[in-house]
Amino acid sequence: MGKVNLDVQLLEMSQEAIKLIYVACRQCYSEKFAGEVFSDDAVDSKKQEDFVKSIVASGHTSPLEHVKFSFAIQGVSRALTHQLVRHRLASYSQQSQRYVKEKDFDYIIPPSIEGNPEARDEFEKLMVTIQQSYTKLLMFMGNDNLRGEAANQDARFALPQAAETKIVVTMNCRELLHFFQHRCCRRAQWEIRHLADRMLEICRKNLPAVFSVAGAKCEELGYCPEGEKFSCGKYPVRHTSSDKK
Ligand SMILES: Cc1cc2nc3c(=O)[nH]c(=O)nc-3n(C[C@H](O)[C@H](O)[C@H](O)COP(=O)(O)OP(=O)(O)OC[C@H]3O[C@@H](n4cnc5c(N)ncnc54)[C@H](O)[C@@H]3O)c2cc1C
Repeated sequence: MGKVNLDVQLLEMSQEAIKLIYVACRQCYSEKFAGEVFSDDAVDSKKQEDFVKSIVASGHTSPLEHVKFSFAIQGVSRALTHQLVRHRLASYSQQSQRYVKEKDFDYIIPPSIEGNPEARDEFEKLMVTIQQSYTKLLMFMGNDNLRGEAANQDARFALPQAAETKIVVTMNCRELLHFFQHRCCRRAQWEIRHLADRMLEICRKNLPAVFSVAGAKCEELGYCPEGEKFSCGKYPVRHTSSDKK
């Protein structure tokens, strides 16, 4: 039992990603069949890459849906995954607190608590207390012959949002761009922002033609759409007619 940190690994991404996006997009405008274009090695890879960059810039992003990235993520809290799974255009497989007993559960400590010795001490004591109560609950239910998943599924009600979890996430490139626009923003909650930043780093390394200019909304817009109250100040706030009143 103890504090753990974010760990993100790329499990897999679509093979021949650039070619796949290129061919899907060409099908929209070409008399040729995508099946032939895909097996035609004559189209040079630089041309394909430039074409993909141009469709990302133009906003014709539906061809990006054909390319997917799958990530294995651990060292994150249940508070984070509750936010993550709100993104509906993705696939998730998360470690179950029903089938996996949380004996000696690990947890995430927010930096604001970790940086304050008194707060950190209180937080860590609470985690130990919760662990002890969780174990006792399993024992009490065991006295009523409730064991295994039947006991776990009810004892987990005592677990904190800080409890560490593991999840596999698959998103297509269009959804990833959307996810980064929202979650790389400095207004996003710190833990999901760290995760989004790490996923973006991996995507940029593996598919720069799509992700080199990806990030928070402001990076693309050149202004902050969040309004004066919420803006971090990195970009000027866009003034709407209602702001001027
Ligand atoms: C800074 C921040 C603060 C937040 N605060 C809160 C909060 O206080 N409370 C709260 O409940 N949530 C909150 N959220 C979550 C937010 O409301 C969204 O649920 C979450 O960001 C998922 O985003 P999405 O719906 O845009 O994207 P996804 O589910 O990833 O979908 C991508 C896009 O597909 C389209 N789409 C998907 N499903 C539908 C549909 N059914 N109908 C129409 N179009 C669809 C939309 O264009 C959508 O933007 C917050 C999010 C952020 C980034």
